[in-house]
Amino acid sequence: MIFLTTTAATIPRLLRQVREQASWIEGVEVRADLLEPAELSGVATLAGAVRDCSPGIRILGTIRREADGGRWTGEESQRRTLLDRMSRGGFDLIDLESDLPIVDAERSGATIVRSLHDLDGTPANLARLARSLPRNPGEIAKVAVSPRSTAELVAIFRAADRLYDLPHVVLGMGPFGVPSRILTRRLGNVLTFASAPGESAAPGHLTPQTLSELYRLGSHGDATRCFAVVGNPIAHSRSPAYHNGRFAEEGIDAVYVPVLVDDVTSLFELAEVLPLSGFSVTIPHKRGVLARLSLMGDDVRVAQACNTVLRTPDGWRGVNTDVRGFLAPLDEVLDAPDEGGHASLRGMSVLLLGAGGSARAVGYALLSRGATVSIWNRTTAHARALATDLARLGLDGTVNVFEQGGHGVRASAPGIDILVNTTSVGMNGEGDPVPWYDFRGDEVVYDIVYTPPQTPLILRAAYAGCRVVTGDRMFAAQAAAQYELYRSLATADAPDV
Ligand code: NAP
Repeated sequence: MIFLTTTAATIPRLLRQVREQASWIEGVEVRADLLEPAELSGVATLAGAVRDCSPGIRILGTIRREADGGRWTGEESQRRTLLDRMSRGGFDLIDLESDLPIVDAERSGATIVRSLHDLDGTPANLARLARSLPRNPGEIAKVAVSPRSTAELVAIFRAADRLYDLPHVVLGMGPFGVPSRILTRRLGNVLTFASAPGESAAPGHLTPQTLSELYRLGSHGDATRCFAVVGNPIAHSRSPAYHNGRFAEEGIDAVYVPVLVDDVTSLFELAEVLPLSGFSVTIPHKRGVLARLSLMGDDVRVAQACNTVLRTPDGWRGVNTDVRGFLAPLDEVLDAPDEGGHASLRGMSVLLLGAGGSARAVGYALLSRGATVSIWNRTTAHARALATDLARLGLDGTVNVFEQGGHGVRASAPGIDILVNTTSVGMNGEGDPVPWYDFRGDEVVYDIVYTPPQTPLILRAAYAGCRVVTGDRMFAAQAAAQYELYRSLATADAPDV
């Protein structure tokens, strides 16, 4: 059940929030502590007006103290009086903190949500803590913690597994906790909380529409397959929109969640606990996952980078769809398909910027088509290491390190046909990785950064007359290749990798 947590300061605005979000919610958490003090006298009789906005809706009353992440700073006796009146005024559920003395609300007939908030971390004994909360049969135990790592997110899911016989809500606040807001069914949670667009009643809240339409919470069942994109940072990723959209279009019973991952060991623990059927890998884990793979395609082995991990009966299998995804738009822009439908890059000189995870896949793709690749990177030692690794592959093309540039040297760069940016410079529309590079105007300039696609480098190249390829085109091509693999897993066909 999706509950809208209200953030309004007045009752009319609160009712407007409920009306606006009514299509996507089954419940409302009236956060009385966020109302102006002058509005509080009307809160106990609010339930009827809320039901008028959305008939059949469940109503939870909460007055959160500052120590628990709320804004109530008034007298505790006043708070208890309000809670008692709300419980007798038609609220279905009342949130009472675990340390609260016995109050009349407990005898009112409303369901009690017995809550505990940890704003600093995730207690080690989470399941035991949750079990200790209910004072009377039928109470819902709610524990909201603040995971500071992927390992703590794993602990939340493990704790929930031990609470199967207790009505509960166990969730993680903040960026590490986002999957616990979406995978309500997997956690066995009675409900999940959401905020209206542009508002955030608690760290990590998504909107009701996002939970309902993008993540399709209402359709999750025991057979729903779970996929993820993992990285750090992850909030910018467009992969959830793409893959959930495709699953919905094709009526496939699967969900795809963003997971903030700070360490690869915890990632693979989470992949077992959820369990994940497969996941997309982004910055900075494309190399880190390699040691965990039992099987890998040639593209992963040679590029030493993996952006797609698939569950198989023989262990985790790695694939790199960045290789296919990078080449597809280049084939289109070069407009010179050979017999196989691919553009040959033999005789072409490519300046490759960057030596990270995606540069490995891109370098492999370029060399496999016969290009002469010069690698430039902020840290030249990384460029040298990548050039050495790629040269060892014995592919058609040749590779060297581009040591000019930077430090005020202006490169007119004669002979460069294609310039590819694989550094992260340009993300959020900030920075040009090669301000020292003067375009001639006849190069193809390909920036794989896609947030946003119109990076400063792309704009400068386009103004100089170059043909440009934006990162969203690579994203679409690599995501489409990934989706085919995920669809195979979600529909239980053998994945064709
Ligand atoms: P990565 O492994 O972390 O590599 C980052 C690269 O950027 C390294 O070469 C690093 O140089 C360089 N770099 C970072 N900050 C820099 C700075 N301030 N100045 C100069 N160079 C800097 O990352 P990745 O996985 O390769 O991803 C890189 C970018 O590609 C990201 O924006 C990602 O979103 C994008 N990407 C797009 C697609 C797509 O489908 N369009 C696919 C994959 C990746 P050092 O070696 O000196 O640290």
